[in-house]
Amino acid sequence: MAFRQFERLSPNRGPAAHERLGALFHHSGRGFAETIDRMLDPGSRVSYHCLIEADGTRCTLVPDAEVAWHAGASTFLGRDRCNDFLLGVSFAGDTYLSPLSGPQIASALEWLEPRWNALGWETGRVADHRQVAPGRKRDLNPAEWDRLIGAIAAHFGGAAAPGSVSMLKSTPPSRRKNPPQTR
Ligand SMILES: [Zn+2]
Repeated sequence: MAFRQFERLSPNRGPAAHERLGALFHHSGRGFAETIDRMLDPGSRVSYHCLIEADGTRCTLVPDAEVAWHAGASTFLGRDRCNDFLLGVSFAGDTYLSPLSGPQIASALEWLEPRWNALGWETGRVADHRQVAPGRKRDLNPAEWDRLIGAIAAHFGGAAAPGSVSMLKSTPPSRRKNPPQTR
Protein backbone atom coordinates (compact mmCIF):
# COMPACT_ATOMS: atom_id res chain seq x y z
CA MET A 1 0.00 0.00 0.00
CA ALA A 2 1.06 3.57 -0.45
CA PHE A 3 1.09 5.80 2.59
CA ARG A 4 0.35 9.50 2.35
CA GLN A 5 3.48 11.62 2.03
CA PHE A 6 3.92 15.38 2.03
CA GLU A 7 6.75 17.86 2.22
CA ARG A 8 7.62 20.65 4.70
CA LEU A 9 11.19 21.70 4.02
CA SER A 10 13.23 22.49 7.12
CA PRO A 11 15.70 25.37 7.13
CA ASN A 12 17.99 23.12 9.18
CA ARG A 13 19.87 21.46 6.34
CA GLY A 14 22.78 21.50 3.91
CA PRO A 15 25.15 21.27 2.17
CA ALA A 16 23.88 19.36 -0.85
CA ALA A 17 26.45 16.58 -0.85
CA HIS A 18 24.82 13.68 0.97
CA GLU A 19 26.52 10.34 0.35
CA ARG A 20 23.37 8.25 1.01
CA LEU A 21 25.28 5.16 2.18
CA GLY A 22 22.46 4.01 4.45
CA ALA A 23 19.81 5.12 6.94
CA LEU A 24 19.77 6.02 10.61
CA PHE A 25 16.53 5.55 12.56
CA HIS A 26 15.28 7.68 15.44
CA HIS A 27 12.22 8.36 17.49
CA SER A 28 11.38 12.03 17.91
CA GLY A 29 10.09 11.84 21.48
CA ARG A 30 7.22 14.15 20.45
CA GLY A 31 4.02 13.95 18.47
CA PHE A 32 4.02 14.24 14.68
CA ALA A 33 2.85 17.89 14.39
CA GLU A 34 5.02 19.05 17.30
CA THR A 35 8.06 17.42 15.73
CA ILE A 36 7.42 19.11 12.38
CA ASP A 37 7.08 22.49 14.13
CA ARG A 38 10.40 21.95 15.84
CA MET A 39 12.11 21.01 12.56
CA LEU A 40 10.74 24.14 10.89
CA ASP A 41 12.21 26.33 13.66
CA PRO A 42 15.69 27.52 12.65
CA GLY A 43 16.51 27.90 16.34
CA SER A 44 16.23 24.16 16.99
CA ARG A 45 19.01 23.35 14.52
CA VAL A 46 17.67 19.81 14.14
CA SER A 47 16.01 17.96 11.28
CA TYR A 48 15.36 14.54 9.80
CA HIS A 49 14.98 13.61 6.16
CA CYS A 50 11.70 11.90 6.93
CA LEU A 51 9.28 11.73 9.87
CA ILE A 52 6.72 8.91 10.14
CA GLU A 53 3.40 9.31 11.97
CA ALA A 54 1.68 6.45 13.83
CA ASP A 55 -0.71 5.97 10.90
CA GLY A 56 2.22 5.67 8.46
CA THR A 57 1.95 9.18 6.99
CA ARG A 58 5.38 10.50 6.06
CA CYS A 59 6.61 14.09 6.12
CA THR A 60 9.71 14.89 4.06
CA LEU A 61 11.69 17.60 5.85
CA VAL A 62 15.02 17.51 4.02
CA PRO A 63 15.69 16.30 0.44
CA ASP A 64 17.85 13.16 0.26
CA ALA A 65 20.59 15.03 -1.58
CA GLU A 66 21.11 17.41 1.34
CA VAL A 67 22.47 16.85 4.83
CA ALA A 68 19.91 16.79 7.66
CA TRP A 69 20.99 17.50 11.24
CA HIS A 70 19.91 14.40 13.14
CA ALA A 71 22.88 12.38 14.32
CA GLY A 72 25.22 14.78 16.14
CA ALA A 73 28.51 13.34 17.35
CA SER A 74 28.31 9.77 16.07
CA THR A 75 30.28 6.86 14.64
CA PHE A 76 29.15 4.08 12.33
CA LEU A 77 31.35 1.40 10.78
CA GLY A 78 34.46 3.31 11.74
CA ARG A 79 33.37 6.66 10.36
CA ASP A 80 32.27 9.69 12.34
CA ARG A 81 29.78 12.43 11.34
CA CYS A 82 26.94 10.14 10.35
CA ASN A 83 24.98 13.15 9.09
CA ASP A 84 27.24 13.17 6.03
CA PHE A 85 26.39 9.64 4.89
CA LEU A 86 23.27 8.29 6.65
CA LEU A 87 19.79 9.57 5.84
CA GLY A 88 17.79 10.33 9.00
CA VAL A 89 14.37 8.71 9.44
CA SER A 90 12.38 9.27 12.60
CA PHE A 91 9.24 7.76 14.08
CA ALA A 92 6.99 10.25 15.84
CA GLY A 93 6.59 9.37 19.52
CA ASP A 94 8.74 7.65 22.11
CA THR A 95 9.50 3.96 21.58
CA TYR A 96 10.03 3.50 25.32
CA LEU A 97 6.47 4.65 26.00
CA SER A 98 4.70 2.95 23.12
CA PRO A 99 5.84 0.44 20.49
CA LEU A 100 6.16 1.28 16.81
CA SER A 101 2.82 0.83 15.07
CA GLY A 102 2.39 -1.66 12.24
CA PRO A 103 1.79 1.20 9.77
CA GLN A 104 4.97 2.98 10.95
CA ILE A 105 7.06 -0.10 10.20
CA ALA A 106 5.29 -0.70 6.87
CA SER A 107 5.78 2.96 5.93
CA ALA A 108 9.48 2.76 6.77
CA LEU A 109 9.79 -0.26 4.46
CA GLU A 110 7.97 1.69 1.76
CA TRP A 111 10.39 4.62 2.24
CA LEU A 112 13.39 2.26 2.09
CA GLU A 113 12.16 0.39 -0.99
CA PRO A 114 13.20 2.80 -3.79
CA ARG A 115 16.53 3.51 -2.09
CA TRP A 116 17.58 0.00 -1.07
CA ASN A 117 18.59 -1.48 -4.41
CA ALA A 118 19.32 1.79 -6.19
CA LEU A 119 21.89 2.77 -3.56
CA GLY A 120 23.20 -0.71 -2.77
CA TRP A 121 22.00 -0.79 0.84
CA GLU A 122 21.95 -3.92 2.99
CA THR A 123 20.91 -4.64 6.57
CA GLY A 124 24.39 -3.67 7.75
CA ARG A 125 23.87 -0.17 6.33
CA VAL A 126 21.03 0.72 8.70
CA ALA A 127 21.29 1.50 12.40
CA ASP A 128 19.54 3.45 15.12
CA HIS A 129 20.73 6.54 16.98
CA ARG A 130 21.50 4.54 20.13
CA GLN A 131 24.01 2.40 18.23
CA VAL A 132 25.95 5.29 16.65
CA ALA A 133 25.99 7.48 19.77
CA PRO A 134 26.20 4.93 22.62
CA GLY A 135 25.71 6.39 26.07
CA ARG A 136 24.53 9.71 24.62
CA LYS A 137 21.34 8.74 22.78
CA ARG A 138 18.88 5.95 23.56
CA ASP A 139 16.53 5.92 20.56
CA LEU A 140 15.28 3.44 19.56
CA ASN A 141 14.13 1.18 22.37
CA PRO A 142 16.23 -1.97 21.67
CA ALA A 143 13.11 -4.15 21.51
CA GLU A 144 11.62 -1.84 18.86
CA TRP A 145 14.90 -1.79 16.92
CA ASP A 146 14.77 -5.60 16.90
CA ARG A 147 11.25 -5.46 15.45
CA LEU A 148 12.28 -2.94 12.82
CA ILE A 149 15.47 -4.64 11.66
CA GLY A 150 13.63 -7.97 11.67
CA ALA A 151 10.99 -6.51 9.35
CA ILE A 152 13.69 -4.98 7.13
CA ALA A 153 15.57 -8.28 6.90
CA ALA A 154 12.35 -10.17 6.17
CA HIS A 155 11.35 -7.69 3.46
CA PHE A 156 14.67 -7.16 1.70
CA GLY A 157 16.50 -10.36 2.65
CA GLY A 158 19.78 -10.62 4.48
CA ALA A 159 20.75 -11.27 8.06
CA ALA A 160 19.07 -9.26 10.79
CA ALA A 161 22.33 -8.95 12.67
CA PRO A 162 24.99 -6.78 11.03
CA GLY A 163 27.59 -9.55 11.04
CA SER A 164 29.11 -9.12 7.60
CA VAL A 165 29.15 -5.50 6.70
CA SER A 166 30.75 -4.04 3.66
CA MET A 167 33.15 -1.22 4.32
CA LEU A 168 31.93 2.27 3.75
CA LYS A 169 33.61 4.34 1.13
CA SER A 170 35.98 6.99 2.42
CA THR A 171 34.78 10.55 2.46
CA PRO A 172 36.19 13.09 0.03
CA PRO A 173 38.07 15.65 2.14
CA SER A 174 36.09 18.50 0.59
CA ARG A 175 32.97 17.30 2.37
CA ARG A 176 34.45 17.31 5.85
CA LYS A 177 34.51 21.03 6.51
CA ASN A 178 32.60 22.07 9.63
CA PRO A 179 29.34 20.21 9.17
CA PRO A 180 26.76 21.04 11.84
CA GLN A 181 26.86 18.58 14.71
CA THR A 182 23.66 19.45 16.48
CA ARG A 183 21.72 16.67 18.09
ZN1 LIG B 1 17.75 10.30 17.61
